Amino acid sequence: MNNSQAKKYSNTKLAFSISETILSFVLLFLFTFLGLSIRLEMYIRTILSNNYAVFIIYVLVLAISSAILFSPFNYYTDFYLEHKYNLSNQSFLKWIWEGSKAAMIGAAFGIPLLMLFYYILQKFGIIWWLPFGIILFIFSVVLAQIVPVLILPLFYKVTLLENESLKEKIMHLCKNAGLKVGSVFKFDMSKNTKKANAAFTGLGRTKRILLGDTLLDNYSEDEIETVIAHELGHYKKKHIIKNIIIGTLSSFLTFYLIAHLHRISLSWFGFTAITQISSLPLLGLWTAIIGLIETPLSNSISRKFEYEADNYAVTSTQKTEAFIKTLEKLTDQNLGDREPHPLVEWFFYSHPSIKNRIAYIKSASTPINY
Ligand SMILES: [Zn+2]
Repeated sequence: MNNSQAKKYSNTKLAFSISETILSFVLLFLFTFLGLSIRLEMYIRTILSNNYAVFIIYVLVLAISSAILFSPFNYYTDFYLEHKYNLSNQSFLKWIWEGSKAAMIGAAFGIPLLMLFYYILQKFGIIWWLPFGIILFIFSVVLAQIVPVLILPLFYKVTLLENESLKEKIMHLCKNAGLKVGSVFKFDMSKNTKKANAAFTGLGRTKRILLGDTLLDNYSEDEIETVIAHELGHYKKKHIIKNIIIGTLSSFLTFYLIAHLHRISLSWFGFTAITQISSLPLLGLWTAIIGLIETPLSNSISRKFEYEADNYAVTSTQKTEAFIKTLEKLTDQNLGDREPHPLVEWFFYSHPSIKNRIAYIKSASTPINY
């Protein structure tokens, strides 16, 4: 497969996502700095008097205008590019429908969470980060449990895996890893994309293995087995728990920092109180700055976990060749850049590049002679 195509695709996507981030940062800064935010809040207050109503309308105006403003970006990267590189199976109307569904579900969870945030901010003042961090932690645990059973079926048809021999192999692998897994499911990923994927989702009783039909249709049983073994590697090396702990600690730290940076920077923008609705975009600006520092850090932790899971996949199945072939096929099918610039990989990649993965797998599976 020609890597220049993949490189072009990956670089275009990356360039667009960087420009979008910079643009949204600049716009948010100008919106706040030029006093437009204060004026928007004042205008809403001429119509509504209830603080919560003002807050929700303010947030909706911001969310809807940014959705409209960034729709060309979205269309280009999410629809046009996917079709240009022949990766999508979606019609335009289907794309709009799936996007609207995602927006509605986002709003159904996001609006109550934002209301709660505003309530906590008023009640607790500068220490809002502590109660809100706790609530967000509980929310993320609940969300992890309901995603496979409630959210995913809204987007895909999830059915039990019928292939008995494959199911048996997978169950055997799970048993060896000491994992009780409810069932193995497949979902119709092909209705949207030609890309392939597998996932290990859920928490507690909703823990399950999900395989895209695009994976099941194009990969041999041995190859699929190595994909599952990789996912089991994440479980075996306790990455799920570690991720929850790291995520919780880092969100507390982030909230603590932005709470204080927000308060300190209020006067630079002409605000007087942290509870002032129009000052809240400042939280977004600070979150973006902290996020920029955290991205390479969390990505390097994630890449470390990926190597560990790869190691488990190879040692538990002893199918090094099949695993390498699977990774090669997945990279080609998903048009991944085989060899991104090391700096790009370091900053943006949550998974190591295929080149580094294969080099690692080969070194991990070479028996060492003492
Ligand atoms: Zn992984």
